Amino acid sequence: MKERTLLPVAVVGVLVLWLTTVGLWAVDAQKIDQRSVDRLPGEPVEAIEWKLVTTWPKGLPGLGSAPENFARRVGEMSNGRLTVRVYGAGEVVPPFEVFDAVAQGVAEMGHGAAYYWKGKIPASVFYTAVPFGMTAQEMNGWLHYGGGLELWRELYAPFGVRPFAGGSTGVQMAGWFNRELKSAADLDGLKMRIPGLAGEVFAASGGTAVRLAGGEVYTSMQTGVIDAVEWVGPYNDRTLGLMEVAEYYYYPGWHEPGAMLEFTVNQDAFDQLPQDLQAIVEGAARATNQDMLDEFTARNNQSLTTLLTEHSTKLRPLPDDVLDVLYINAVSALERLKADDPMAQKIAASYEEFLEGVRRYHEISERAYLNARDRVLPPISFTDQ
Ligand code: CA
Repeated sequence: MKERTLLPVAVVGVLVLWLTTVGLWAVDAQKIDQRSVDRLPGEPVEAIEWKLVTTWPKGLPGLGSAPENFARRVGEMSNGRLTVRVYGAGEVVPPFEVFDAVAQGVAEMGHGAAYYWKGKIPASVFYTAVPFGMTAQEMNGWLHYGGGLELWRELYAPFGVRPFAGGSTGVQMAGWFNRELKSAADLDGLKMRIPGLAGEVFAASGGTAVRLAGGEVYTSMQTGVIDAVEWVGPYNDRTLGLMEVAEYYYYPGWHEPGAMLEFTVNQDAFDQLPQDLQAIVEGAARATNQDMLDEFTARNNQSLTTLLTEHSTKLRPLPDDVLDVLYINAVSALERLKADDPMAQKIAASYEEFLEGVRRYHEISERAYLNARDRVLPPISFTDQ
């Protein structure tokens, strides 16, 4: 008898619980509706504020304007629901602690270059630049349509960090030198600011590689702590004033043919965002990524003209035997990296396969077109050469 009455009691209990839940949900829904009705047009609903720390000096044009542009885009696209406040190098954390700051949640986001974390994550170099590797256009293709981004996420996942492409400079310059390079022998004993895998290559080629943040390179050149520096290209190098501390400006950027920067996001902070704000972060990063390449494409040429006409900059191509030595050592450095690090091996397999395919097509598209254009247009000359 007792057993028979238990069932209806349980059913009633479940029913009451269900009605209460639905009732509470309905009240909540009503509250939300009411809140959206009460909200004035343009008024933020739920203001979330994120910190974004960078490896660049505050306000540096080009590299430093990318995070500012990103923050502006996120603010506008979210109607102020997500505000991103940008901090320059040293304001919250020193430049080379940006990755750790994001991993630990000191800041929700970072902007920098993946190869700065090479000591902690050797395979990160693939996400800035590989010597003699892909151009900006090719990198973007690999990341977004060739599996590169998925592998990048896998690489940073153990640190609770989610990466996004954060801008590209295009082909960089080989750098500023305080003496002329006549042959590979002139690399001997040269101290150069050159990070990433290229730093190892430079060291193996007879020089000494030094890792310095952007804010330190001018003084280091001026005081003779280093003899050479690679930074970016005419536009950003001019803003750092590098033409005042070195005379010879070498090309091409064998070491950073399409240097990619990164946005890093604390994964927990990202997971806590509603889906639309996640999409806004992703969309704003993607737009900023392309925007930087557009800006460098437009401004590098203007700045190069200024360097050559208003300063005493001497533009020089790297001698072929220097490029040959650098290439031989680049192959060895990459092989060492792959042998020492399973993730580097996995990423390299994807990177190399994509490069081989895209190189093949670019032979009959980009290169063939540039050759065809050069055949018919007037030859290009630089006044100082
Ligand atoms: Ca560089």
